[in-house]
Amino acid sequence: MAERARPPRLFLPGPTEARPEVLEAQNRRLIGHRSDEIHDLLDSIQPRLRRLFQTDHRVYVSTSSATGLFEAAVRNGVAERALCCVNGAFSHRWADVVAANGKAHDRLEVEWGAPITPELVVEALERRDDYDAVTVVHNETSTAVTSPVGEIADAVRERAPDALILVDTVSSLGGIDVPVGGWGLDVCLTGGQKCLALPPGLAFAAVSDRALERAREIPDRGWYFDWLVFERYLERSETPTTPAITLLYALDRQLDRILEEEGLEARFARHEAMARHVQGWALERFGILAREGYRSNSVTAVENTRGIDVGAMNAFLTERDMVVSNGYGKIADVTFRIGHMGDHTVEEMETLTATIDDFLERA
Ligand code: PLP
Repeated sequence: MAERARPPRLFLPGPTEARPEVLEAQNRRLIGHRSDEIHDLLDSIQPRLRRLFQTDHRVYVSTSSATGLFEAAVRNGVAERALCCVNGAFSHRWADVVAANGKAHDRLEVEWGAPITPELVVEALERRDDYDAVTVVHNETSTAVTSPVGEIADAVRERAPDALILVDTVSSLGGIDVPVGGWGLDVCLTGGQKCLALPPGLAFAAVSDRALERAREIPDRGWYFDWLVFERYLERSETPTTPAITLLYALDRQLDRILEEEGLEARFARHEAMARHVQGWALERFGILAREGYRSNSVTAVENTRGIDVGAMNAFLTERDMVVSNGYGKIADVTFRIGHMGDHTVEEMETLTATIDDFLERA
């Protein structure tokens, strides 16, 4: 096979750049998935995942992408009907997953660029009172909007105390503060390849006791994503099926980097500082799709007000070892997205934006 050029550093909203030491951690001898070694590894990972999710509840590790856990949350949490909050492509996908699993749902839909607010959720819950669950995406990666999930969870608890609160934090957990216990979320799911800066292939779900109890009442949960199966295996420090063992090695290393070497607070502050830089830069040259007050700390969807050729910009960036993302879904042609998540630094973001400035001058 012809040798390929080295791929550029990823300033995408996932997958993002994984640090060499995290990638290298994978290069160890394999262990059996029912061995004492895996018990030790999973036992050491579990309490650190709970710290990362800021919860006392269990955190399941799934060898799948995050969308698999959309399916899990629905099959284990929705008996009949869900309220799906939709403000972009991924929240739209979650509603589609509800429908694809044969469950009824209503969409609370707002325009792309807008957040889901507690007031809107209350209105929707006043229209109907028979929802088993509410789905909401904390950080809508397609529009780079962060919705106030803590307040939304309070509103759901007050208006529909029996409804489970199912939250996607795929592009926020580990970069933006998500106090799962403090917010009282029933299911908080995420993927490894975004703010956690892991190679893709693992997904995680913090699941409350209440959500686990609910699953017991719901038939036809399937098997691969059944919370009760996950729970049974967690109790014996295993996963239901053969996990991606090398990714667990990477996770083991990265949890230490996140929790011990950097610290969660510092990580959140770094994400905020990267966002401040990128958004200040974007506002001077372009526009930003997300409404003020709801702009994400992990990704920015830049409105392409100058009509630049994003493909040409990426070719220019790639020659300089960087790449950003085009827009997503129905706004693909009018936005481009800069990922400032994971292990990137403010200095790297400054270099990136200075290089885009070079491109703009030449163009
Ligand atoms: N939810 C959000 C907010 C996302 O950004 C993504 C992927 O970009 C997903 C869900 C789907 O994740 P995966 O590709 O890991 O299934």
